[in-house]
Amino acid sequence: MSRVLIIGCGGVASVAIFKCCQASDVFTELCIASRTKEKCDLLAEKLRPKTKTMITTAQVNADNTDEVIRLIRSYEPDLVMNIALPYQDLSIMDACLACGVNYMDTANYEPEDTDDPAWRKIYEARCREKGFSAYFDYSWQWAYREKFEKAGLTALLGCGFDPGVTQAYCAYAKKHEFDKIDTIDILDCNGGDHGYPFATNFNPEVNLREVSAPGSYWEDGHWTEVPAMSIKREYDFDQVGMKDMYLLHHEEIESLAENIPEVKRIRFFMTFGQSYLTHMKCLENVGMLSTTPVQFEGHSIVPIKFLKALLPDPASLGPRTHGKTNIGCIFTGHKDGQEKKWMIYNVCDHQACYKEAGSQAISYTTGVPAMCGAMMLLTGKWDLKGVHTVEEFDPDPFLDALDVYGLPRSICEDPVLVP
Ligand code: NDP
Repeated sequence: MSRVLIIGCGGVASVAIFKCCQASDVFTELCIASRTKEKCDLLAEKLRPKTKTMITTAQVNADNTDEVIRLIRSYEPDLVMNIALPYQDLSIMDACLACGVNYMDTANYEPEDTDDPAWRKIYEARCREKGFSAYFDYSWQWAYREKFEKAGLTALLGCGFDPGVTQAYCAYAKKHEFDKIDTIDILDCNGGDHGYPFATNFNPEVNLREVSAPGSYWEDGHWTEVPAMSIKREYDFDQVGMKDMYLLHHEEIESLAENIPEVKRIRFFMTFGQSYLTHMKCLENVGMLSTTPVQFEGHSIVPIKFLKALLPDPASLGPRTHGKTNIGCIFTGHKDGQEKKWMIYNVCDHQACYKEAGSQAISYTTGVPAMCGAMMLLTGKWDLKGVHTVEEFDPDPFLDALDVYGLPRSICEDPVLVP
């Protein structure tokens, strides 16, 4: 029995909400709140006839902490699920602290305005200190650790697939499969085809910022940064086949390096087709990925926001995307004195997701873990106070829930390693 406030009603949130409605015994009441209330109303109308969950809707600008506080005070939820954008992480965390409510999200904080001098000063110091230059990092949210702990509250960060399930896979490997883990390779393969020359499969602005940033990996206690897309490997993915994949910086590397300190190397690879890369390079070269406003015919325009308006809405890709995703982790290390390698992953079919939840597999593979993470908090299976990432919690009940709610794990005892 619980009351949950979900902020955001885009591609990922729609799947999470759909899934919460399948578990009405846990999610007894939901309030869907977002910037555009009409989207929340449409979704609520669609779901109400099929669920026992009591759904209400609200309008909120989550950039404004006071607005979020007012909404939380009026709805009195047990948990706030932030499935809006990473830009809102801190304002929603502040509101949760002010109201004494648990918090969770699916992506770590980054600012909308990367030209803000106050933010830039801290960012540039962090680039020098840590050695990677992505706009997002955990330091902003880890700064809330003591406040959440003292308030007896939990903030669960990055509970999508990657970050999210990939860290639960790491926790599972450490708990059950290895005495010591030496290397972790996280592999994110999207073998889906939507038929457009160029589209992103989650929020275009956040997605393009992420993949156009320099790549980096953790090795022997420090970061190594390399130019974007400069490390390429081929991998033969179960049920997808051979794909090109590229090393990216990714947020879970940062928390895994801190929480599993014995690991010598952690890398993250994502597959991209040539058409995607060519389009992205061209857009970058002409300045369309810039977050700095330009003046155009008397209007101030942020190029990447204008591009977002031109690109297909990721939530609309569902009916036209065919193929499968395969996301998982390959580990090397030791068990009972023997060297060992091991792989755990999930395969998800775009069309099966569309038939079930009306979405493509990227939103599905993010929305289902968000719902399962919320379920862990609401049922008390995950009960650490403070600000935590997924690998810090018991992976067993979470992976069991994912098996039931649509993202079953597969295991390979003798995986091919990535050179
Ligand atoms: P969408 O752009 O589809 O949806 C974002 C939603 O947030 C929209 O409903 C939008 O409202 C709402 N929103 C934006 N700004 C505000 C605001 N200021 N106040 C209130 N609501 C707001 O994004 P996605 O669903 O694709 O992505 C959601 C999150 O999931 C992102 O943080 C993304 O980074 C993360 N993600 C995580 C992954 C993982 O594996 N961990 C993978 C993929 C995504 P409006 O309709 O008005 O625009």
